[in-house]
Amino acid sequence: MRADRQPLTTSSPTAVRNLGILAHVDAGKTTVTERILFATGAIHKRGEVHHGTTVTDFDAQERDRGITIFAAAVSCAWSGHRVNLIDTPGHVDFSDEVERSLRVLDGAVAVFDAVAGVEPQSETVWRQADRHGVPRIAFVNKLDRAGADLDTAVASIRERLGVVPLVVQLPIGAEDSFSGVVDLLGMRSVHWRTGSDGYQVGPVPEPLREEAARRRRLLEETVAELHADALEEFCSASALTERTLARALRELTLRGDGVVVLCGSAYRNRGIEPLLDAVLAYLPSPADMPPVRGLVTDGVEQERAPDPAQPFTALAFKVTATATGRLTYLRVYAGTLRKGATVLDAATGRTERVGRILRVQADRHEEREEAVAGDIVAVIGLKAARAGTTLCAPGAPLVLEPPSVAEPVVSVA
Ligand code: GDP
Repeated sequence: MRADRQPLTTSSPTAVRNLGILAHVDAGKTTVTERILFATGAIHKRGEVHHGTTVTDFDAQERDRGITIFAAAVSCAWSGHRVNLIDTPGHVDFSDEVERSLRVLDGAVAVFDAVAGVEPQSETVWRQADRHGVPRIAFVNKLDRAGADLDTAVASIRERLGVVPLVVQLPIGAEDSFSGVVDLLGMRSVHWRTGSDGYQVGPVPEPLREEAARRRRLLEETVAELHADALEEFCSASALTERTLARALRELTLRGDGVVVLCGSAYRNRGIEPLLDAVLAYLPSPADMPPVRGLVTDGVEQERAPDPAQPFTALAFKVTATATGRLTYLRVYAGTLRKGATVLDAATGRTERVGRILRVQADRHEEREEAVAGDIVAVIGLKAARAGTTLCAPGAPLVLEPPSVAEPVVSVA
């Protein structure tokens, strides 16, 4: 078994990424999601969107319409981390649902079509993510398509989204012959061979060395312009190491001052593993997030930190009827929820009992004894809780406030 697919042994909030994938319809969100599940070993057979077999599209209506309209949270593991994929509907008609799912994310991948660049819906969702302070990285997909061009797509990210692109890869080959990327941080090549599911890491191909060196310098200069202090602080030597640059990129991502841009072709299964590595490297864990705020009785405000020892506090963000029962998806912000526990909806004063706790894993449910701060789980047994309900420990009532524009906490250990 590959090291990055080893089963997880930790449930620390630092080893979790609650991730959303944001995109204009048709940019490839479903394909990227499905390829992530495949790369992480959560599913063993690749589905194709046009066959209606991808895992996140499990709703028949969604399959029929060919667009992703219902949110689902699916869990997988990569390099000793748990990655919870929260599906965010890309269709504009469902923007309330987008808002709700954005609230429970800690970070997101924005997927763009390498031919179309930034499209209207991607711009809408980008602005919504801005309002929620969700740190993002970008994935320019469909590099295999005729007319695909990373530089043009990157220019449209800069112009239409008004954010500074931090391009960390150089494509190897174009359109139909797109075969890999040069990783500009490690100055190495990553190659995917046709028909193979793995990838090979090697030196930068000779014809691309000069261009790769030029782009690396450009990346360093852009980072230095945006974040001179961090570089001074991180960097004692004059040349930037891979690690120093990665730390600066993480900080810029968390501050929303720039967007790290990666590229690939989800359809051809190229670019997914580096994308997962980037999710772990640049996007925050629940432990990096500021405490949530809520109202306790008499209009008094309280904060709860992402700590399993705090009083249990969670937000129900999606309720679905399935063959297993009524599933209530929860984002646990603080404390620990145990199977069989009674929880309080402080807004109504009603208590309910949590029957089972499930982690939804692509095509199956894993039974859990507990869920801790940072987790995203589905519970069975709740009848009254709706999307938007705060659930808390009966002895510690609190109603989560509507999210203010979050100030992401920059934690650069
Ligand atoms: P979504 O609407 O954003 O979820 O997009 P889908 O994942 O459903 O993809 C839309 C269409 O684009 C489907 O026909 C996919 O097969 C196709 N597609 C997705 N990724 C790629 C890619 O990397 N290259 C090409 N050529 N087509 C892709």
